[in-house]
Amino acid sequence: MSIESPTPEELQHMLEQTKQQKSYQADQQGNPLTSYMRQPQIYIKLPSGGKYWREGSLNYPSNGELPVLSMSTKDELILKSPDALINGQGVVDVIHHCMPDIKDAWEMPIVDVDTILIAIRIASYGENMDYSTACPKCTAINEYEIDLKQFLDMPVDVASYDETITYQDLNLKIKPQNYRSVNASSLDIFEQQRLVTLVDNENLDADEKQAKFNEIFKKMTELTVRNITGSIEYIEMPDGNRVANKEYIDDFVANSDRSVFDDLRKRQEKINNSFPDKSVNTTCPECNHAYTVPFTFDQANFFESAS
Ligand SMILES: [Zn+2]
Repeated sequence: MSIESPTPEELQHMLEQTKQQKSYQADQQGNPLTSYMRQPQIYIKLPSGGKYWREGSLNYPSNGELPVLSMSTKDELILKSPDALINGQGVVDVIHHCMPDIKDAWEMPIVDVDTILIAIRIASYGENMDYSTACPKCTAINEYEIDLKQFLDMPVDVASYDETITYQDLNLKIKPQNYRSVNASSLDIFEQQRLVTLVDNENLDADEKQAKFNEIFKKMTELTVRNITGSIEYIEMPDGNRVANKEYIDDFVANSDRSVFDDLRKRQEKINNSFPDKSVNTTCPECNHAYTVPFTFDQANFFESAS
């Protein structure tokens, strides 16, 4: 090549070479086994429609359909560790691994949790799941298969979250709690229940025991309040100023008229009731009694290998 500017032919040749080199490098870098790795099994829409997720926690595709990959061996091992399930980290890790568009599963609004877990279960083990119940009439154990897909197709009404609650001249804006706060609440409640058993078994006289129980119940009451206030996104003052500070909000609810707490609780109940009822209709093979049982997710059995 001359030291003068390259001719158009030379330039063309150089560009071709660079292109080829780049494509070769890409081949070397890309694992040839990629096409043998986990591919999306299904695509799902979230009940929240991507709303209520903190910015950056979800990469929401324009068509609203999120790919779901099956669990890997590593995911199954994570879920077999009891600690990983109790503190929620195991579930979060598996969601990140199976749904690459979810960047921070701790932020998922509670309205989306069931759909996400069912989708991962379907992507991993298929649409059918073994389920067993005891007949309420003759107590015979009834074992059957349920189609999980029916629960994915259920519409969830999240409109109630958009109606504000008014108290005097304040507007309370609510939102679904995220997995982080729901998980923290259940850990707290679990801990208090453990303490009840502990105190009960302790060798204390009646008064000492009562004093300790009172302490636990006081804590439980605080937890109940916190669970309700956890769904407040912010409180808007008459001047338009929005208070979002968690401590201020807790303090306000704990120290204001009881009607605030009652209104919040009623709204929560209304929202819970608007959720589709995941129930299963079945007939007892022993006595022919027809009954309906609620379908509940027990993480321990839900992620059990379907082999
Ligand atoms: Zn029966």
